[in-house]
Amino acid sequence: MSNEDPIKLFVKQEKIYPKSVSGRYRRLKWIVILVTLSIYYLTPFLRWNRGENAPDQAVLIDLVNAKAYFFWIEIWPQEVYILTGVLILAAITMFIATSLFGRIWCGYLCFQTVWCDLFVWVERVIQGDRNARKKLHEGKWTFNKISKILITHIIWLIIGFLTAGAFVLYFNDAPTLIHNMLQFDVSETVLIFVASLTISTYVMAGFAKEQVCAHMCPYARFQSAMFDRDTLIIGYDERRGEARGKHKRGDSWEGRGACIDCSACVQVCPVGIDIRNGLQMECIACGLCIDACNNIMDKVDLPRGLIRYDTVNHMESAVKGGHEKFNILRIRTIYYALILAIVGGSLIFALANRTLLELHVLHDRNPLFVQLSSGEIRNGYTIKILNKTHENRIYKLSVSGIDGAQIEVKSAGDVNADNLYVAADSVGTYHIFISADVSPSNSRDIMFNLVDSTEKFSSDYKSIFISKKGR
Ligand code: SF4
Ligand code: SF4
Repeated sequence: MSNEDPIKLFVKQEKIYPKSVSGRYRRLKWIVILVTLSIYYLTPFLRWNRGENAPDQAVLIDLVNAKAYFFWIEIWPQEVYILTGVLILAAITMFIATSLFGRIWCGYLCFQTVWCDLFVWVERVIQGDRNARKKLHEGKWTFNKISKILITHIIWLIIGFLTAGAFVLYFNDAPTLIHNMLQFDVSETVLIFVASLTISTYVMAGFAKEQVCAHMCPYARFQSAMFDRDTLIIGYDERRGEARGKHKRGDSWEGRGACIDCSACVQVCPVGIDIRNGLQMECIACGLCIDACNNIMDKVDLPRGLIRYDTVNHMESAVKGGHEKFNILRIRTIYYALILAIVGGSLIFALANRTLLELHVLHDRNPLFVQLSSGEIRNGYTIKILNKTHENRIYKLSVSGIDGAQIEVKSAGDVNADNLYVAADSVGTYHIFISADVSPSNSRDIMFNLVDSTEKFSSDYKSIFISKKGR
């Protein structure tokens, strides 16, 4: 290699100006964008009646009280396994969808794709389509250029702000927070979240765009592990398309392929690749090149589908004159479906058997026991009563497994083991003593039993009664 021709270790990323396109997949993308954005922005305003002592926001993550509400489902910190189950369920659903339909998540549903599409649409409305935008960006800084770019960035920032504003509504009562925002009366935490999310949305969807999919997203990297020869991918039918070349109306198609080398498929691509070079890691399977090519095929009176969603197996069998079908039932998809059924079933079981009362007992560590002047042995415990109902309740505590045990509640006022009060939707903590006339040589298992005054809910907890050091 000569000195005049050094290897370039850094190549500047070329700016992509995706061209607008119409067609089936573009329409589908608009519908998905409309539905997903509507769900995102409107969900915090949905109400769900849980009674007077509980929040009425249908979806709420209440960080202050460490609880999450999803319509009829309520998750306490002790039930975080439900959230884990939901996340596993979502991951397996994504695995199965990827294995069947390829990068369907990336092309249609991912937040980055949805917001990027929205930002590019704004850019297109203000600055024009591909060629106009390219010309504007490469041209001199005139008043026209400055004003168009400024307006685009202001709208991007407004979208970023609305995105951030909607996000914090999921963690607060939405109408109250909006009212407080309008009065400029919000906490520093809310302000920091809104500011940082506004900026990250603006940067990710306005500047980083397809670079996020290509270099930052971990899912983009490992999802190829879920692909096989029966996964739907975006494919260019080389057998039909080659040899490519320009074509004029009236020219013969004899001895040449259907691709007229118009580059329409490249111009509409949001990640700026040429799908005719084969499947590439950058391809998010958005289907826009299919729309672009189908429109061209319509113009030159050739069948659609030169670029299409297809499987490797089907494409190869077509070359040999076969008709391989789209195979849904494969070892991989059956495994995923089984895991999905197991996790989904466990989650339904956990939710169906969720209790509205929980008792937790913690034996005092120091002292482990004391011997009273009467000769009785006394143990101390901290009990936590989780009242998951939306009503204030009174509970009765009893203990079994030790004869003649007396329960004493260490508390101000006239609280005793028969009237332990716990407010709705909260945790009641009491310190209690159990005294019994037992031999110092014996330590034993005991069972605490808690029943609410209506006898509708009860909970047990196994603990120990210590009467000798080194049990
Ligand atoms: S190659 Fe086609 S499907 Fe892939 S990202 Fe580009 S336009 Fe979308
Ligand atoms: S849009 Fe179709 S015809 Fe035009 S370059 Fe792409 S593959 Fe060839």
